[in-house]
Amino acid sequence: MIKTPIIKLRNSYADNSVYIKREDMIPYSFGGNKARKGVLFFEDIDKGDYDTVVTYGSSHSNHCRIIANMAKQRGMDCILIGPTEVSDETFNSKLMDLLGAKLIMVPVEKVHDTIENTLEDLKSKGKKPYFIQGGGHGNIGTRAYVECYEEIVAQEKELGVNFDYIFFASGTGTTHAGLVVGQLLSLSSECNSKELDSLETKAVKKEASQQIIGISIARQNPRGRDVVLDSIREYAPDLDENEIQNKTIFIDDYVKSGYGLDDGKVSQTIARVLENEGIPLDVTYTGKAFSGMVDYLKTNQIKDKNILFIHTGGTPLFFDWLRATE
Ligand SMILES: *Cc1c(COP(=O)(O)O)cnc(C)c1O
Repeated sequence: MIKTPIIKLRNSYADNSVYIKREDMIPYSFGGNKARKGVLFFEDIDKGDYDTVVTYGSSHSNHCRIIANMAKQRGMDCILIGPTEVSDETFNSKLMDLLGAKLIMVPVEKVHDTIENTLEDLKSKGKKPYFIQGGGHGNIGTRAYVECYEEIVAQEKELGVNFDYIFFASGTGTTHAGLVVGQLLSLSSECNSKELDSLETKAVKKEASQQIIGISIARQNPRGRDVVLDSIREYAPDLDENEIQNKTIFIDDYVKSGYGLDDGKVSQTIARVLENEGIPLDVTYTGKAFSGMVDYLKTNQIKDKNILFIHTGGTPLFFDWLRATE
């Protein structure tokens, strides 16, 4: 995986220094966290003799775009199952079409059965399907963000900065789970190594107090946080339960009108960050999370800290926003 840049923003936000990790710049099909996960899923797929990839997501799904593209690249069939409730045309859904994915739209309560039936049907026809959970959920997706956390630690050293907070948009929880696992593993490995000089000890202490904060873009608590906790336990069953409870912070205050919906503030944030920093965000994920982050910093009177915002991608959704502004 290519290392993505961390850029310091020109402006301060709520009197903090804010850095952005540009996961949207992963150089594959408009990038994003689904590209980082997709690379690992296809490493697994390439080891078998699969001919069809099946996954699910809405017409807004960055995950479905990436999977459709990676399947097409290999000459594999791609079947995308999605809820009719969120099936409005977007640039992502146009890309899924263009990339030759087969779309099956069903009411949300039928998604589960439709997946089962589709997989059965393919197998009965002698096909070899590989199934990926929506959003690239599961241990493979989690691993992508454990690796990303390691990358962030290395970049902190290069930049000479320790991040006090890490914020990002939390959806299915895999990105969140991976980051928390990465943090806990790196803490325990650094504490175990005996040759810490005093400077490094300081850095470890900083890291121990570092807060990783997922801004929910859809789910409410307690379910949203529980899903993250489950992903952590599934990936790293040996981690201490108290530690994972302490380190998993899932904020659902900014879901507001719901998945993909804006109460007006998000749109303002997108325009402002584009003007001030030249960075595109979107309504569903990154704009909502950035706007939530700034509000969270103000509400909790957090000042003079180093903040890392992970730009999880979704560039085609920026253009949906742009088209909707008149
Ligand atoms: C899917 C997605 C998220 C959420 O990631 P999860 O791992 O599902 O929590 C955040 N931002 C963007 C742009 C996404 O596409």
